[in-house]
Amino acid sequence: MKRIIVAIDGYSGTGKSSTAQLVAEGLNYTYIDSGAMYRAITFHFLRNNVDLTNPKEIEESMEKCELRFNELGILLNGELIENEIRSMVVNQNVSEVSAISSVRRKLVEQQREMSRNKGVVMDGRDIGTVVFPEAELKLFMTAQMGVRVKRRKKQLAKKGIIEYDEAIEQNLAKRDEIDTTRSDSPLKQATDAIVIDTSDLTLNEQVKKIVNLANNLIHEN
Ligand code: C5P
Repeated sequence: MKRIIVAIDGYSGTGKSSTAQLVAEGLNYTYIDSGAMYRAITFHFLRNNVDLTNPKEIEESMEKCELRFNELGILLNGELIENEIRSMVVNQNVSEVSAISSVRRKLVEQQREMSRNKGVVMDGRDIGTVVFPEAELKLFMTAQMGVRVKRRKKQLAKKGIIEYDEAIEQNLAKRDEIDTTRSDSPLKQATDAIVIDTSDLTLNEQVKKIVNLANNLIHEN
């Protein structure tokens, strides 16, 4: 059977990751959370007090950072850090780290390597535009800010983190701003991406829609 790449891009808090994960399950594909990779590098830099204005320090620190996924999430040099990378301090620094070109170069290379056999669903900001411009199926997810805040609040609460709506909205808006205006691989809709506004859709509806689109491509002659 034909194997494809499903690229899902969009703003934070639009349900990208949960959707991508379930789409991968539905297709029996591998799910790759590219945001987790940027978050893990950010966590690694913060933990080692890396000076983000010093390219040499960044380069050296990245060399000491091996990323891998297992069924529980992302591992940094063998240590599971799936919870740590969702903290507010990582939220506040990840977009700055993601704007660094040497960081992007390294992670994009790894993302392509992980997907060389296709059969992958990957979500992020530049998947359909930069990482896999040839992806067979590209989705761009959006949602109203109020809905995004609610979803992020719920996600944080599940991890025992209570945040004010205002703080969450500020963080989302700031990340949107940095992610869409950075010079290297800014978040933008690929010209051939299908836009999905998730404001009024349930998770199940989103997943079904994308799995159907993917199945049509997989089974077409
Ligand atoms: O998807 P998630 O919200 O976990 O991503 C965290 C941050 O990582 C984003 O705000 C963005 O700055 C960065 N990112 C990126 N490119 C990707 C995935 C994430 O720049 N492909």
